[in-house]
Amino acid sequence: MGQVAVVGAGIVGLAHAWMAAERGHDVSVFERSPRAEGATIRNFGMIWPIGQRPGVAREAALRAAERWRGLALSAGVWVHPCGSLHLAHRDDEWAVLEQFAAVAPELGFAGRLLSPAEVERATPAAQPEGLRGGWLSPTELCVNPRTAAARIAAWLAERYRVRFHFHSPIREVETGCLRSADGRQWRADRILVCSGADFATLFPETLRESGLKPCKLQMLRTAPQPNGWRIGPHLASGLTLRHYPVFGACGALETLRARIAAETPELDHFGIHVMASQNDAGEVILGDSHEYGDAIEPFDKSEIDTLILRELRKIIRLPDWGVAERWHGVYAKHASLPVFAAEPLPGVHVRTGTGGSGMTLAFGLAEFDWERWES
Ligand SMILES: Cc1cc2nc3c(=O)[nH]c(=O)nc-3n(C[C@H](O)[C@H](O)[C@H](O)COP(=O)(O)OP(=O)(O)OC[C@H]3O[C@@H](n4cnc5c(N)ncnc54)[C@H](O)[C@@H]3O)c2cc1C
Repeated sequence: MGQVAVVGAGIVGLAHAWMAAERGHDVSVFERSPRAEGATIRNFGMIWPIGQRPGVAREAALRAAERWRGLALSAGVWVHPCGSLHLAHRDDEWAVLEQFAAVAPELGFAGRLLSPAEVERATPAAQPEGLRGGWLSPTELCVNPRTAAARIAAWLAERYRVRFHFHSPIREVETGCLRSADGRQWRADRILVCSGADFATLFPETLRESGLKPCKLQMLRTAPQPNGWRIGPHLASGLTLRHYPVFGACGALETLRARIAAETPELDHFGIHVMASQNDAGEVILGDSHEYGDAIEPFDKSEIDTLILRELRKIIRLPDWGVAERWHGVYAKHASLPVFAAEPLPGVHVRTGTGGSGMTLAFGLAEFDWERWES
């Protein structure tokens, strides 16, 4: 068995470390920060097969969901099988859900349409005013991104003796060898570069030509909701229907898009669609917006937070809307691929660009890679 080195302790790096260690390799992970600090700890914690196109992405998502369920048992990661509910508060949103329901079985999506009364039984959070119904899907899971990555790293170290080198920015990678910024050097037979949205440090020329773009998302979180109140399934909005490509096949989406462009162009401008998840501490995670490439500024826009909260209040009710925290995250996204994969040197693999679905896809995509490399 060989030596495997992984750059980046985000979910994509952890996924490769896990698959390699499971096959008996001697694995080391190099992370520049004291802990994973990128998109992996800043997200909603939604494991979201419902958003994935049939084919590789959906297959990866379903495999990954099984992996997450396994981690709950083996590694003590909090994994909640909450499912998801897309809410429709407008006729055009409902029309998209009805069209999706008609094709869902042949596309392999489980789930069913709910009437307003059924929605209200599924979640105490749905705003009843204007509610047309919803699409309930059983396949989604909830994890807590702030604790999951650290727990998985600790488990990989305990269970498989994976070595984690934190505070280790890798500045150079060549076949068989990697070097940190302070001149330390390690050897490895296979090197995985899973450095997220950092396009500047390793293989900048490969990443420049990759078609990847950085995408910035603003997020908010409430304090724990009072009296153990639970949201039920993850909640997504009619606005979300224009975000995930799986709804692209529904003809009614065009009417919905046109209405939003005419009524609320500010939502298109900032790429806003709204979703809510609730972690094990009872906090509700709210978001989000999408700003790409050169539009990304280091500072957050209070206008975006206001719009996110305005849109959320139209579709959900929370016992406590008090915002306890605000932050942003940046992920790397490719326009058409679920992950960007390159082999810039023999034995060196770049894996990044899982967009808004890295938590959902990483374990499945890494499984595919390792099956291909070692079957
Ligand atoms: C706000 C937000 C919400 C999201 N919500 C969801 C969701 O609910 N569900 C979902 O499936 N996906 C979601 N995503 C997407 C998901 O979080 C990402 O696709 C995924 O985390 C990407 O993982 P990664 O390992 O590629 O990158 P990252 O998590 O960014 O990890 C990269 C790591 O590499 C390290 N690194 C970089 N360069 C070097 C170097 N040279 N040397 C050493 N270390 C280095 C960084 O410090 C970092 O820790 C969301 C993303 C964001 C930002």
